[in-house]
Amino acid sequence: METCTYDLDHSAVAATHYYRAYEGDRVNLCLDCANRFGYPQYLVEYPRPWRPEFGYLVTVLNGEPSGDELPEIYPMDGNAAEFWLDLLGCKEVDYLLADAAWEPYRPHYSEHGGVTYEAQRVTCLPVVQVTRSVIV
Ligand SMILES: [Zn+2]
Repeated sequence: METCTYDLDHSAVAATHYYRAYEGDRVNLCLDCANRFGYPQYLVEYPRPWRPEFGYLVTVLNGEPSGDELPEIYPMDGNAAEFWLDLLGCKEVDYLLADAAWEPYRPHYSEHGGVTYEAQRVTCLPVVQVTRSVIV
């Protein structure tokens, strides 16, 4: 682990950023030092460790053969799932996502106006938001 070399009192604190000193040496900064650093444009962020996250697979079924396979393979984070379900007319977004969280890896359904909303919670790598065009 790289530790903060910017403040000598921080020798045990993990570094989150660094910059190159004039001689080419790396100067490591912890998050606290990085936030107070006067020239943030010279700071380079160390890659953050990743950890598994929760994602939701959200599908809307309206009786038509599904032509959109993207939602079945790309999980969204909780906020995006809530946003899309609400936008697409689901009236029980909170209940649906709560059910999905309670029992992951199983599809959960909510119906409204002849449309079925399906949500399934999965564990995934950090979610990269996919921008989709939606015809409402
Ligand atoms: Zn520091």
